[in-house]
Amino acid sequence: MAKYLQRVRQVPRSQLNGKNKTRAINNYTLPVIRYPAGIIRWPKEEIHTTDVRTRKLLTMHGGFHPKSSTLRLYASRKEGGRGLVSVRATVQDETSKLHEYIKEKDPTDDVLSECLRQWGTVDEALEQGPSWEDKPLHGMYHRTITEVADLKKSHQWLERAGLKDSTEALILAAQEQALSTRAIEAQIYHTRQDPRCRCRLCKEAPETIQHITAGCKMLAGKAYMERHNQVAGIVYRNICAEYGLETPRSKWETPPKVVENDRAKVLWDFQIQTDKIVMANQPDIVIIDKGQRKAVVVDVAVPSDGNIRKKEHEKLEKYQGLREELERAWKVKVTVVPVVVGALGAVTPKLDEWLQQIPGTTSDISVQKCAVLGTARILRRTLKLPGLW
Ligand SMILES: [Zn+2]
Repeated sequence: MAKYLQRVRQVPRSQLNGKNKTRAINNYTLPVIRYPAGIIRWPKEEIHTTDVRTRKLLTMHGGFHPKSSTLRLYASRKEGGRGLVSVRATVQDETSKLHEYIKEKDPTDDVLSECLRQWGTVDEALEQGPSWEDKPLHGMYHRTITEVADLKKSHQWLERAGLKDSTEALILAAQEQALSTRAIEAQIYHTRQDPRCRCRLCKEAPETIQHITAGCKMLAGKAYMERHNQVAGIVYRNICAEYGLETPRSKWETPPKVVENDRAKVLWDFQIQTDKIVMANQPDIVIIDKGQRKAVVVDVAVPSDGNIRKKEHEKLEKYQGLREELERAWKVKVTVVPVVVGALGAVTPKLDEWLQQIPGTTSDISVQKCAVLGTARILRRTLKLPGLW
């Protein structure tokens, strides 16, 4: 145990990203436990305490929110967890594997047969408790997005974005309603008397995670805009790269309204004049491919996760007027493409298809990562998270 704890302590201090830190614990620290597990008797109490100490250590370094779901910490990343393996699971796994082996060899070996007799029966394998998705508060997000999102893709940032463990912990805590917003303080922790629990910024709506990440009018002008422009900026730079157009030097630089060469013309946040007045005439990006005689109208949104499908539809409808006008005026084929990512990472099953209709190569993981990072920044600033939280 001492050796195990000594190794665990090395992990949070390392420069590894979140996913690699869990891998370090699973592949470098846990073998210390696995080796003697199933051979020496291990008090259940000690196993439990060691898991608790591991989680406390992660929490101390910002890698696990204290109110976040423990079940989810140990769930696989593919299923939206953090992919950590517990001491308990390691000991149980190794014990049951040894038993299986001995049972198999038992008829041919007297010593093993005697060993098995003395051992008696083992407690059955991992009892299946409830999963984090079923918990009233921790699973709320999961239930909300099940209807509208591609769950596997919505979780893929946990596997592929390479974020810091503290950012992973923050976003999962937000999904699990584990962060202290005024609404949670009043309704769940009962530490706040004011039952209206109005948002600290706009003082209008109840302060929920959903409100802070995508619904507050005080954040709309600057913080949400910044996040939106970062996501749109990724798409924009990939388009420019495709046509050999000059790209903005830094990702914080606002692109020029118009860039053009003999192959294409790309408009950024450009108000387009049409003969017939159309309401929505200022999409985020317009690409005119001169060679192929086609144009693509791209509009980006980072709404609340439950609204991604509705938003996608809305964007599509919104620019039909512009599409018709442009087809008539420019005599080219025009496609409208919505790029929608939920503030906490949820994506619709169609996102990949949409991205493929945009010139250049933009991966779904890149826009998802960008949206999630933008939200993490907003949460840290708005909730003024003390210290690591
Ligand atoms: Zn507000």
